[in-house]
Amino acid sequence: RKYDPYRPSIQTFDLITRDASFLCAELLPNPAEETRKLALLQRLSEISAETFGDAEVLPFGSSGNGLALANADMDVCVFLNAKEGEEEVSPAEFVERIGDRLEKEPDFENVLQLRKARVPIVKLNHINGIACDIGYQNDLAIWNTRLLRAYCKADRRVRDIVVIVKQWAKKRRINNPYTGSLSSYAYVLLVIHVLQRRGVLPNLQATVEGNGQVPFWDCQGFNRYFFEDISRLSRYWQPTPESLKQSVGELLYEFFRYFASEFRYATHVVSIRKGGLLTKEMKEWTKDHTQAQADSKPNVKNRYLFCIEDPFELDHNVGRPVDRYSLFTIRGEFMRAAKILSKNGDGAIARLCVERH
Ligand code: ATP
Ligand code: MG
Repeated sequence: RKYDPYRPSIQTFDLITRDASFLCAELLPNPAEETRKLALLQRLSEISAETFGDAEVLPFGSSGNGLALANADMDVCVFLNAKEGEEEVSPAEFVERIGDRLEKEPDFENVLQLRKARVPIVKLNHINGIACDIGYQNDLAIWNTRLLRAYCKADRRVRDIVVIVKQWAKKRRINNPYTGSLSSYAYVLLVIHVLQRRGVLPNLQATVEGNGQVPFWDCQGFNRYFFEDISRLSRYWQPTPESLKQSVGELLYEFFRYFASEFRYATHVVSIRKGGLLTKEMKEWTKDHTQAQADSKPNVKNRYLFCIEDPFELDHNVGRPVDRYSLFTIRGEFMRAAKILSKNGDGAIARLCVERH
């Protein structure tokens, strides 16, 4: 580990840990919200079945991985089982048909059809107060949700750290891929990366039973294998003794410090699949390559300024929305956060999450 002259004392870490745990308790959704989400899921299942026949509706993202803040949007995905000889429904057609149907229902508002998005979806609000995105046949999203849920189960500290990081990113306005910053999904991958480096988390995609080889479980051409049965994880992997002593406060500080001053943005790629770092060269995520791609597919914009490899979709940079300006802002926020946590533990969590205007 890099020498750190600003590293705070254990007492400071304890104060941060205490405040982080209070804030988490405040931010997590209450049981009434969970009930409303389940009811909405049920309602969408009925409507999908009426519209398409054989349909299944599954939650993904934070509604499926146990990492939701109160009032978070709900992400769901619809899967259709086409009957023998029946033509498959295209994503654009799906969005149009379910969108048109939902517009007629009195309990849905602001139904918006995004037919031409990279991933076509319908956005809407339910009158019970929940905002929802509906996607279509996105198996990889279901699998990455399950992977994140497994990491969350593997160590109690993960959820608290993620909740604070999400709140920080939201309040500091760096949690919006549409304006050049990162999605929550990206931040969770960053947290997992740091915890893997610290020996708190294993690499579940490289954990196998016995001395076996990593199997290949195909999903849209990618390997979706990972060790999911966390109750049996301790047979195959153990956290380092040092990592067991680290508090949530200490790990939070480590997280911000790592992306403020250790991670090399110019050359490195975060890869939880590898349990460490790759280089941009290795992945051919370089400028020249970007140009070649841009020439062949002019409407796909790839940026490789902040490189975060998707754990399954290996050619996808989850940090793609980040441009030069937003990278500057995001790195500035990492530095600000590390500085706040290194100074004085009391009230640090509140200062960390002060709204930026
Ligand atoms: P929040 O509670 O803030 O909505 P979340 O856990 O739902 O957080 P999102 O960023 O909304 O996270 O992502 C939800 C799902 O969408 C992820 O599980 C992932 O499958 C998919 N996703 C989001 N962003 C990306 C991305 N940049 N690349 C690939 N998939 C993404
Ligand atoms: Mg979400």
